[in-house]
Amino acid sequence: MSTGGVGAHSALIDSFGRNISYVRISVTDRCDLRCRYCMAEHMQFLPKRHILTLEEVAQLADIFIARGVRRIRLTGGEPLVRRGILDLVGWIGKRVGDGLDELTLTTNGTQLVRFAEGLHAAGVRRINVSLDSRRPERFAHITRGGDVGQVLRGIAAARAAGLQVKINMVALAGLNEDEIEEMLLWCAGEGLDLTLIETMPLGEVEEDRTSHYLPLDRVRRRLEERLTLVPSVRRTGGPARYYDVEGIGARLGLITPLTHNFCDGCNRIRVAATGTVYGCLGHDQKVELRHALREGGEAAVAELLDRLLAGKPRRHDFHIAPAAAPAVPRHMSVTGG
Ligand code: SAM
Ligand code: SF4
Repeated sequence: MSTGGVGAHSALIDSFGRNISYVRISVTDRCDLRCRYCMAEHMQFLPKRHILTLEEVAQLADIFIARGVRRIRLTGGEPLVRRGILDLVGWIGKRVGDGLDELTLTTNGTQLVRFAEGLHAAGVRRINVSLDSRRPERFAHITRGGDVGQVLRGIAAARAAGLQVKINMVALAGLNEDEIEEMLLWCAGEGLDLTLIETMPLGEVEEDRTSHYLPLDRVRRRLEERLTLVPSVRRTGGPARYYDVEGIGARLGLITPLTHNFCDGCNRIRVAATGTVYGCLGHDQKVELRHALREGGEAAVAELLDRLLAGKPRRHDFHIAPAAAPAVPRHMSVTGG
């Protein structure tokens, strides 16, 4: 494969020399939960005709792979509520070992009992499951009605099917702050990695997000009062910093999007369920691929991707301020977390 240059088979390199090898694709903006920091209670979802068909998503995945993308993550919304999702996973999964290193998924876990075996059979080996609390009432409060038992059974099913599971927990002041150490110890006992995420100001959610914003350096300092966190050399080109937790055999990731510490090595772009591709989670810089996929063919898609890369922002401009409008008006469920 050629590198650099412009066109349908060149690598995806932006104007800062960053090579895009990782794409996150949101397959739906819909979800069976309504996490308070992510969605409004009464979300308006997009009409189906605005959403890429599964065939179009697969076609796009092939285009990305042809241009050097090595990892694809399916996300949403909740990817496992998209009808036919296993077909899509199977189509893209066939490319693992044939251009693609890895196909992964981020899920809220509610549908895993049903889908875990199918995901494994289709070529998925690792998934991220979001779990902000293991306490039933608290989980129901944060997700506006979710059943944590269903998610925990889903995690067990995933592991039984041979999937490696990583837990994502959004750290929320006043909501789950007092449960973080407990979650870390539980993950350690289960042999699961844990990643903590700071809330990001994305989309209106009817609540004052700043009241739940919990800086992770505060969390880390508190954990360090009782545990030894050894910074790990592991980097993924993403926003996480990793620590090995001595004595309990756990690995902890901290995603601190409000700092700029990861932008220089950014290796990713994000595709919304509509086919809009964003150069950065924290900017509105984008190209619309849906029409090009439907009418223009590969050359039109290639041209738009080159335009996206030429304008991919150097870094995001997130800040979280009381009563400020969200930094980016679209929800995480649209762009794909
Ligand atoms: N529904 C799936 C899930 O919850 O894992 C996949 C999509 S969800 C948008 C992906 C991740 O983004 C989840 O871990 C979720 O907790 C996180 N997330 C959503 N909105 C966020 C926000 N405003 N700030 C930080 N993380 C957020
Ligand atoms: Fe749904 Fe995931 Fe958003 Fe929660 S974080 S509302 S599970 S998309």
